[in-house]
Amino acid sequence: MIKFLDLQHQYKTIKNDIDVAIQNIISSSAFIGGEEIKKLEQNFASFQNAKHCIGVANGTDAIEIAIEALELPPNSEIIVPANSFIASSEAVTRSGHKVVFCDCNLENYTVSIGSLEEVITKKTKAIIAVHLYGHPCDMGALLEIAQKHDLKIIEDCAQAHGAEYKGKRVGAIGDIGTFSFYPGKNLGAYGDAGAIVTNDEELAIKCKMIANHGRIEKYNHVFEGRNSRLDNLQAAILNVKLNHLENWTNHRIKIADFYLEHLKDVPQIVLPKRSEWARQVYHLFVIRTNKREELKSYLSEQNIQTGIHYPIALPKLKAYDYLGKAEADFNANNTDKMLLSLPIGEHLSLEAVEIVVAAIKNFFK
Ligand SMILES: *Cc1c(COP(=O)(O)O)cnc(C)c1O
Repeated sequence: MIKFLDLQHQYKTIKNDIDVAIQNIISSSAFIGGEEIKKLEQNFASFQNAKHCIGVANGTDAIEIAIEALELPPNSEIIVPANSFIASSEAVTRSGHKVVFCDCNLENYTVSIGSLEEVITKKTKAIIAVHLYGHPCDMGALLEIAQKHDLKIIEDCAQAHGAEYKGKRVGAIGDIGTFSFYPGKNLGAYGDAGAIVTNDEELAIKCKMIANHGRIEKYNHVFEGRNSRLDNLQAAILNVKLNHLENWTNHRIKIADFYLEHLKDVPQIVLPKRSEWARQVYHLFVIRTNKREELKSYLSEQNIQTGIHYPIALPKLKAYDYLGKAEADFNANNTDKMLLSLPIGEHLSLEAVEIVVAAIKNFFK
């Protein structure tokens, strides 16, 4: 069986360090707050090349808190790319603003710059730049547009730990960046966890306070916040795993390069295109084909697991009926029937990837 994701395999390779880290937290009973959180916030800030990092409860909260910290006027329009996980848009509505969808490009599936410019109005105040599939958005173009229209940029980096735009790690290129440590992400906890990064100290303090009941010290609450703390146990696990992330990422890139090289002559599939300025960290390796369902079942018969990200573009979800964009002429609205995510990850040997390639070639023969 060639698995899409194999967290058991990963655990076996780091078992000793993980077991010790977990036991230490339980022995010390330091569950909320604690040294591991401080360590993770420092380690992860430095990993992403950001001045500040704030641990939070999950990646969705991270986006919500980031938006709230920006203190935009109520009901501001915030632009969200049409191909993403619903968390990217949900957070906009939850924080009292209006979702405006724009399209994605057909090369790397991140935000289409042309489409983004078309939907900007006087009420637009921010963009959620989703570094989808681990490919950074064109941040140069986004920064230029943001400056011209006075927009904030929130980078949704849930799939992009360690990704780089022109040699710069994502997250703190825009105003603020958000991460998810959901177990299946490139860096995953053993439960829910997330983080926010920024170079802006004031924003960092605001986020930290929002995530911890609006306080700076116990019982001194400056405003109403919420509880969205990252717990010490998850931080301890993440500190162990962060040491392996570069190796794991480089392995993902190696697999992606193998797919790109060996599938390039299959005319029935469209491969993702990595921009020359990008370090893509391949949270997902997504191809496009008109025979998506047939190929998926065929691979499944060959014991090869695949995924679909995402089967229904955001504007077509029932949740967004009210926006009336299900029929919009977006690439994202059309390609959702063609996308297929091939297995990729630190658990896969190149021999396994060769088997996947051979199976795909055999299917289209
Ligand atoms: C996973 C994901 C999120 C949400 O993260 P959670 O930790 O599951 O809340 C947000 N945005 C994108 C693009 C994601 O892939």
